[in-house]
Amino acid sequence: MSFNFAVSTNAIFGPGKLSELHTQISSPMGAVHGKKALVVISNGKSTRANGYLDRLENELSQAGVDYVIFDKVGANPTKPVVEEGGRFASENGCDFIVALGGGSVMDAAKAIGLMATNGGDLWDYVMLGSGKKQWPANPCLPIVAITTTAGTGSETDAGGVITNPETKEKTGVFGPGTMPVLAIIDPELMTTVPSKFKAYQGFDAMFHSTEGFISRQRNEMSKMVASEAIRNVAENLVTTIEDPQDLDAMGKVAFGSYLSGIQMCVGSCTSAHALEHAMSAYHENLPHGAGLIMISKAYYSFFVNRHVCDDRFIEMAQLMGMKDADKPEDFITALMNLQEKCGVADLKMSDYGIRPEEFEEMAKNARATLGINFLNDPCELTDEDCVSIYKESYR
Ligand SMILES: [Zn+2]
Repeated sequence: MSFNFAVSTNAIFGPGKLSELHTQISSPMGAVHGKKALVVISNGKSTRANGYLDRLENELSQAGVDYVIFDKVGANPTKPVVEEGGRFASENGCDFIVALGGGSVMDAAKAIGLMATNGGDLWDYVMLGSGKKQWPANPCLPIVAITTTAGTGSETDAGGVITNPETKEKTGVFGPGTMPVLAIIDPELMTTVPSKFKAYQGFDAMFHSTEGFISRQRNEMSKMVASEAIRNVAENLVTTIEDPQDLDAMGKVAFGSYLSGIQMCVGSCTSAHALEHAMSAYHENLPHGAGLIMISKAYYSFFVNRHVCDDRFIEMAQLMGMKDADKPEDFITALMNLQEKCGVADLKMSDYGIRPEEFEEMAKNARATLGINFLNDPCELTDEDCVSIYKESYR
């Protein structure tokens, strides 16, 4: 048995926990210390409309912290926006960042934090694809991640996924200090997410762990957290959609998402994430979780049909509630049942402008941008296999 486990984020989990933020900043025993915060939120209306920003501002005031707000982050955050955010943070003398939002906001905060302390061009520090692979000289500004969605696990991992619109690369940005110092996972902030996005995010959380479960990098530690993540998301995601006020169910999906973030730190994802990043790199309006759902049946069937890890699929089907599962195909059945119940079994690539003519380029993009994920697959996936998966998934 062997694994490397390094998750340094101080996590504060539970309903109402946002109201403890001020104690984490003002107390000498707190997780973060600073005088001026850059508050990063999305460019949408919901963070303000739901009162979450007011609550955060109140916490910062109670802690005696000054702040400025950067509200330009869209879904699938881009290089120009995070570079602008970095300049804004350094011009305003911010010494830490509070990210209040979903995966896009938390991911953007990591890149903004690196740009604020290092300057230059973000792609100088990107270690994958066409990035210049320079390790940043200065640590990222400390990050407080307050997640308002249960999906990406970005509150407890070091990577931020950023899109470079010029090179059509959607890839991970990381560096010294990009792991949040403090995460607040408060399910009260997640109940207002519209149903379809709850489903997209919940499936993203589950896929971080189903990929980890079949990955060659799996170890006893990653298997343990992935198992609980799969079980918690599968058991509770439908309830969070049908009964948005059920805080217990929301908390359990958020727990699954958090565990999946840890899974990515101690284990790994596989090529499904690379295939999806290529889709949303070319089609920015495609939500990450929706893209993963679209290719999931064909992707997992590829490995099921090759019988490369039958036991793992059977165990995942059991974790998803099929107690008598005894063949790998049962995982596909469990997966599709959950998608039906969440109302996301019929998502169409064509609704997002994706065309079959793009599949070859996307397959190449997936490998060039996130080739590392393919090394974790339970058996080799060629470019032709990737194109077949896209084709089978196309509607
Ligand atoms: Zn993901």
